Amino acid sequence: MNAIVIKRGREKSLLRKHPWIFAGAVAAVEGRPETGETVEVLLADGSRVARAAYSPASQIVARVWTFDPQEDVSAEFFRGRLSRALELRGSLAPTGDPGAARLVNAESDGLPGVVVDRYGSWLVVQLLTAGAERWREALVAGLDRLAASGIYERSDVDVRAKEGLEKRSGLLAGAEPPELVEILEGGCRFLVDVRNGHKTGFYLDQRGNRSVVSEYARGAEMLNCFSYTGGFGVAALAAGAARVTNIDSSAPSLDLSRRIAELNGIEAGRVEHVEGDVFAILRRYRDERRSFDLAVLDPPKFAESRSQLPRASRGYKDINLLALKLLRPGGVLFTFSCSGLMTSELFQKIVADAALDAGRDVRIVRRLSQAEDHPVALPFPEGAYLKGLVCKVAR
Ligand code: SAH
Repeated sequence: MNAIVIKRGREKSLLRKHPWIFAGAVAAVEGRPETGETVEVLLADGSRVARAAYSPASQIVARVWTFDPQEDVSAEFFRGRLSRALELRGSLAPTGDPGAARLVNAESDGLPGVVVDRYGSWLVVQLLTAGAERWREALVAGLDRLAASGIYERSDVDVRAKEGLEKRSGLLAGAEPPELVEILEGGCRFLVDVRNGHKTGFYLDQRGNRSVVSEYARGAEMLNCFSYTGGFGVAALAAGAARVTNIDSSAPSLDLSRRIAELNGIEAGRVEHVEGDVFAILRRYRDERRSFDLAVLDPPKFAESRSQLPRASRGYKDINLLALKLLRPGGVLFTFSCSGLMTSELFQKIVADAALDAGRDVRIVRRLSQAEDHPVALPFPEGAYLKGLVCKVAR
């Protein structure tokens, strides 16, 4: 088998079972491995420590499939990994169950580059890396035990370019999913556009946090910023919120959000949809002296790379400051960052700076993270990307 040899002194993360091998840590490539091919991973002393997918175009030049150097990486291997991921989640989803869940969470399920989400009886798959691409057939075949109505691919993401891969999407197996797949979450009905929606169609990682927001919702007027298809808003309205203002810059997302509100029997007067830039609209609301009991800030990833962190930090500070100003005494802010590069420490500091400048006395009453079907393998801290703070403004 072809192999990559790790530089002396650069083996530490591998020995701690971190699955990424950076180009700078590789002393030599033995043989001529193809893109996505499985290679042996050797330390400088010649000992074999892992088998990994080779990806010459990427800065992460190999991703470990297995730390057992004897284990065969084969269709059988992928069956086993899929079984383990499903087992961790407690059950094989029964056909006909209208729920939604992440079934495979990439590196943290021992399957770098592989994401599988279930929306009712439909599966949506992302193959993000050269190794995942190479094993696409085995992976799709391994999902057949779920007896899904259809398996749809949404590998139309920018990160594929870093692996030298084209974007891809379309039907992989079974029947074409409907234009909108209906799912049930926490008693609310949602419509998921698996073909064109963000990620695989829905922010499953926020499931638990929608439920937390609903705990605070009764009677409240809520501002839902970066609302997408209105997940937090619908959860709050179903839990008795008086009124929700959804703000998003995407007209199609807001259209779907209106449909979803209607589907849940929300009276038109209880929900408002505002199209535009959150930064500008919050400023306008501040000037108009509008106020709310609850505010959700769930912006897109502001920092894609380390060099973008300072700018991202200013963005987070700006929206948090504005939202805190709009809250009534006793109000609650639910503020999130899904940028993996933004540490919880830095995020908390930014929110603290925002509260200071807003002149509000604020306490963290709860810390939030991604839903439990988005687990974080301990050797892979990068898997923990979503963080949230529930902040209460003093009366
Ligand atoms: N809270 C949502 C997910 C938010 S995703 C949920 O739980 O489902 C981020 C959203 O922010 C996207 O819908 C995107 O259209 C929107 N967005 C990005 N930049 C924006 C901006 N400057 N102003 C308003 N919306 C923006």
